Amino acid sequence: MLVCVFFLISSLPRSIAAAPTSTCRYTSETKTQSGVRYVCLFYKGKSTWIHVPKRSTSRLSPYEKTKLQAYNEIRKQISSSAPINIKLNFIVSSNFPKDLQSKYIDQINLASLAYDQFFNPNTTINVYFQTEKDEKFIDATPILARNKQDFANFLKEWKLNRSKQHVVGLAASFNDFTGKLEGHTGVIVSSRTSEKIVTLYSEQVVAHEYFHVVQDYFKYKKDQKGYPGGVDEYQTIYRPIFREGSANTVATALSMGSFETYLLFYRALVAENKGEGAWLPFKTLTNKKNVISTLKLMELTRNDPAINFTQFVLGSLAFEWLIAEYGFDAYKKLIYNQSLDIDFNENMRLTLGIDSSQFYSLAANHILEAFKFPLPR
Ligand SMILES: [Zn+2]
Repeated sequence: MLVCVFFLISSLPRSIAAAPTSTCRYTSETKTQSGVRYVCLFYKGKSTWIHVPKRSTSRLSPYEKTKLQAYNEIRKQISSSAPINIKLNFIVSSNFPKDLQSKYIDQINLASLAYDQFFNPNTTINVYFQTEKDEKFIDATPILARNKQDFANFLKEWKLNRSKQHVVGLAASFNDFTGKLEGHTGVIVSSRTSEKIVTLYSEQVVAHEYFHVVQDYFKYKKDQKGYPGGVDEYQTIYRPIFREGSANTVATALSMGSFETYLLFYRALVAENKGEGAWLPFKTLTNKKNVISTLKLMELTRNDPAINFTQFVLGSLAFEWLIAEYGFDAYKKLIYNQSLDIDFNENMRLTLGIDSSQFYSLAANHILEAFKFPLPR
């Protein structure tokens, strides 16, 4: 018995022995110790630091192998030569935390290497990094002020020195609202935050908002015509799991730095969205039928007032499966075909030869596997 215990302890990987001993404060809080990335799962008042050890491909589960396939497909898009189409124009506030500024400029440059293939030559993309102290500038800049309701609550929180762990989208579009046809992207953060405070989730926000510029590039003509059917028509063409979910799939693979951190990101994302306090349909994700009906339910935001963030969660998993299964080129075609006057279902049929119901059914098992990740006890 004693020998057994000794064996167990001595065979623990060093990274576990060095796990942070501090209590973490919120899910997705992150810490690097002895070169290992940890993320906090905060559940029922209990905090747990988790990490994903490096393993050889042969030791990955089928679910993780699908993730690796998607991860590699997306990372392959990072070109080794400088962008030839995108012209970046940074508009950075002097209040923006310096460590995040340099990190996010690197993220924009890396994403540009992957996104450049989507644009025609000489496409200007404006990148805004602002804080709660820059409200005057935001109010005087219509392309930013028009989204103010999306981050107004964070402005209030940050002025009270709270919620500093969040990084929020500030702009994400391609249009001619400024009189010139240009892309606009960027984020807003607390002037008092830093790289150490922000969540692991937030690390993909910069590339996520930027990816909306790519998506918009193939829909701005339709945007100019407008959507007489309102939000329903818009979401029928650009399904939220496609627009938000797949922007997360792409941005997460580009931003996590390693495959282990990428796996860690999804574990925290799933943990945060199950169990107590989770959106009710997420509590039913224990069989394929319920996954399919949940994907169907989240097609239109009006089906349930609580649908919002949930689309990012299931959407990122569904498109991760799609990119692993069909390859990035097929996904790219889905983006291009937004420029045709067809809805999402027709786009799927034209591009991949399946309709959205078949897509839900095929991707369901991957989502089920993700939701098997246990919550801390
Ligand atoms: Zn988004």
